[in-house]
Amino acid sequence: HDYTKDDIRQIVKDENVRFIRLMFTDLFGIIKNVEIPISQLDKLLDNKMMFDGSSIEGFVRIEESDMYLYPDLSTWMIFPWGSERGKIARVICEVYKTDGTPFEGDPRNNLIRVLKDMRAAGFTDFNIGPEPEFFLFKMDEDGKPTMTLNDTGSYFDMAPMDLGENCRREIVLTLEEMGFSVEAAHHEVAPGQHEIDFKYADALTAADNIQTFKLVVKTIARKFGLYATFMPKPLAGINGSGMHINMSLFHDQGNAFFDQDGEMQLSSDAYYFLGGLLKHARSFTAVCNPTVNSYKRLVPGYEAPVYVAWSGSNRSPLVRVPNSRGLSTRLELRSVDPAANPYLAIATILEAGLDGLKNQIEPEDSVDRNIYRMDAEERSESHISNLPDTLHNALKDLSTDPVMQKAMGPSLYRSFIEAKNMEYDAYRTQVSKWERDQYLELY
Ligand code: GLN
Ligand code: MG
Ligand code: MG
Ligand code: MG
Repeated sequence: HDYTKDDIRQIVKDENVRFIRLMFTDLFGIIKNVEIPISQLDKLLDNKMMFDGSSIEGFVRIEESDMYLYPDLSTWMIFPWGSERGKIARVICEVYKTDGTPFEGDPRNNLIRVLKDMRAAGFTDFNIGPEPEFFLFKMDEDGKPTMTLNDTGSYFDMAPMDLGENCRREIVLTLEEMGFSVEAAHHEVAPGQHEIDFKYADALTAADNIQTFKLVVKTIARKFGLYATFMPKPLAGINGSGMHINMSLFHDQGNAFFDQDGEMQLSSDAYYFLGGLLKHARSFTAVCNPTVNSYKRLVPGYEAPVYVAWSGSNRSPLVRVPNSRGLSTRLELRSVDPAANPYLAIATILEAGLDGLKNQIEPEDSVDRNIYRMDAEERSESHISNLPDTLHNALKDLSTDPVMQKAMGPSLYRSFIEAKNMEYDAYRTQVSKWERDQYLELY
């Protein structure tokens, strides 16, 4: 929606909105909120809402910690779960510096910057359709998640196997009330695991939607006594949660990936974009799979990708070309997990693809056999490399790729690598139960 300031003033009156939540996203993909009473509306609309950014992750700027929140009015939305005292609305904000320029440490501003580069390269839109997966765990009396799953269902099961069905349906209805167009919602392969797919949108809106989606899922699950988690691999031995990213690039003539006469009806732009994705796949992994735990999902045997390869027919590769052509011609990147900061993830994916287009990078041939049945030698003959196997190794690849620095901008790039290296170190120096179980009595 293209709301004007006056539209917002009118809606606030008509709907009795009492509070506005100003939302933005930190380096780690966590939604930050400042709630203001409606008396502050004019100040907000005049871009005068100031906050102290010094204690926000990745926002560290000791000398000048004052920052401003500029509302993006097109993201205005009233929460369907308001209180009796009046409704609560939210608006997503851009973080600005005191000198009136966008703060480069704001991941959303960064995506806006990369999208400008895309337009300069002759494209109009980068459309993203995400497929987020999550687990529902039972909650204890203190509202904390237990490790008890709430059902024993599996892929496409229905009640009574799928006890999450009512909760999932309520999530879908709430999303629809909030303007989402939900395309599919189903039980996933693992017990207690679900997937909800909503309609593709331009990159910025899609990233905003992913953030709102997580908030809605968590909020509604709570009402059902359930805890929703987007942690990539909460339980060993069963599938983890991914967030496949379907993407397509548009120019004035339509979908840039489609060519009636091309090989597989894909354009040369599609192949170059794919070439860029595969070339930079190892280095954007740290951003698309940003936690220590993410790498426990990227292992063989659980439908998550492990190798850098693409296919038009196979379900196991990193990049798949789904069957639809014409306007819905797209690439599906299957490594991304829902812990990723969507603004950063999409920026790195897009920059990788644009690099492929600029340098006309040809992808390796597609691999249509099951890569998991090939041995190391066969894989190396087909030029199939592995995705990084730990956050540590992923960060090494990220920190040596100038295209990724361009994708994130120098300051976000530096603070991301620094913060994530610290996270990995904190993990590395822990002593786990597995180690004690293995070694305490043995030695
Ligand atoms: N959960 C799987 C993953 O980790 C995906 C399963 C699927 O959607 N086919 O990516
Ligand atoms: Mg799916
Ligand atoms: Mg799925
Ligand atoms: Mg998929």
